[in-house]
Amino acid sequence: MTQDKSASERMEKIVSLCKRRGFIMQSSEIYGGLNGCWDYGPLGTELKRNLKDFWWRRMVRERDDIVGMDGSILMNRQVWVASGHEATFSDPMVDCRSCKSRLRADQLPEKDGKLHCPVCGSFDLTEARAFNLMFKTYVGATEDESAITYLRPETAQAIFVQFKNVLEVSRKKVPFGIAQIGKAFRNEINPRNFTFRSREFEQMELEYFCRPEDGVELLEYWLKERLKFYEDVGISSDLLHVHKIPPEERAHYSQGTYDIEFHFAFGVQELEGVAYRTDYDLSQHQKASGKSLEYFDEETGQHFVPHVVEPSAGVDRAVLALICAAFCEETITDPKGKAETRTVLKFHPRMAPIKCGIFPLLKNNERLVGQAREIVESLRPHMMVFYDESGAIGRRYRRQDEVGTPFGVTVDFDTIGENGPSNQGTVTIRERDSMKQVRVPIGELKSFLVDRIN
Ligand code: ATP
Repeated sequence: MTQDKSASERMEKIVSLCKRRGFIMQSSEIYGGLNGCWDYGPLGTELKRNLKDFWWRRMVRERDDIVGMDGSILMNRQVWVASGHEATFSDPMVDCRSCKSRLRADQLPEKDGKLHCPVCGSFDLTEARAFNLMFKTYVGATEDESAITYLRPETAQAIFVQFKNVLEVSRKKVPFGIAQIGKAFRNEINPRNFTFRSREFEQMELEYFCRPEDGVELLEYWLKERLKFYEDVGISSDLLHVHKIPPEERAHYSQGTYDIEFHFAFGVQELEGVAYRTDYDLSQHQKASGKSLEYFDEETGQHFVPHVVEPSAGVDRAVLALICAAFCEETITDPKGKAETRTVLKFHPRMAPIKCGIFPLLKNNERLVGQAREIVESLRPHMMVFYDESGAIGRRYRRQDEVGTPFGVTVDFDTIGENGPSNQGTVTIRERDSMKQVRVPIGELKSFLVDRIN
């Protein structure tokens, strides 16, 4: 099988698993969907929440120098005029005259040195023209020019325009950062590759303000921090690639940009950009609003517009990377010697949607069920657990393997003392990846699990 074919088959299996087990579904599916929009089901929502919570913990709660904010999606149109988005936030678009597809001009395949339509193969394409990616909307009851604004295409601008307020209330000194997680919208010409390129998505962004002379060093610092973050959520470094953007491809104001890329089945693609944006954004807003966005440095007695380093990550792309990195099919042999395929999502326990499955060995034994339910209630305040009493225990393990649950606890006859007192009050914990089991006293269960899922 060729590399391409096996990669696309793997991707198909991932998409199908996501739907079948309730990670990610097409938005408005019963009406035929809406291109570029996705809904997260029960397990996908947990996974996404775990990722965002861990980002917030690393970036805000565990640090002294970063505070959070939560800006509105709709903002004054002038924000987008000043930031340059209204004039230039566009992709080059061409139309195929043959099949009428609208295509990204910079993503066309080449045949015999000529660009062609990836849908029908025709070479009959229009000239490229700029297509603005912002969704336009009207605020208020009149749909005229004065009521126009946009759904934000990035979360960062809310941070820049609130820079002064947040600085004052937080009383931070440079270098310090403002972090935000929230929705962003881009009317992408070709949404594709599952959730990778969507029209509605979420971003996790940090704007880290500093003295001009520290920008270059802080760019390297944040690149390292962000790579470490991905390892800490279970994406190993061999699946990541750092692409240093050459000066001629960087935004004109940037003094250094890295893309952190992931080896997706459909190619090596950007997960996050880490950019040193100089004082461009704050200066633009200062000029356009007429309000000072300068910082007074008490140490040096100087006033200046801070420079900024921005790590900007996509939540949905990171969730997709987590799923792709975790997806695994293994051949194992059952107790009767029969080979079978086991599908496992090998999530890091801190990312796994369900942390622990709890299983009474038999569902028609009141004591087993009662004990299992008691364990569920005792663990629930501390983690996401799942109770399952139906089917053979092996089947129940497999169902949890497939959604990445790292631990399974079984309440058996030893637990309730029916095989003598030696193991009474203990349960087995089965670990997902090794499939090894250990017996642990019920009283130690919570700390055993909590130690491993944080
Ligand atoms: P691309 O080149 O892939 O369009 P970009 O360089 O325009 O991405 P940025 O503007 O740097 O992206 O946005 C920061 C992050 O937001 C990206 O690294 C990505 O994770 C996420 N992101 C951007 N556009 C989309 C999208 N259409 N769907 C999902 N996530 C996105």
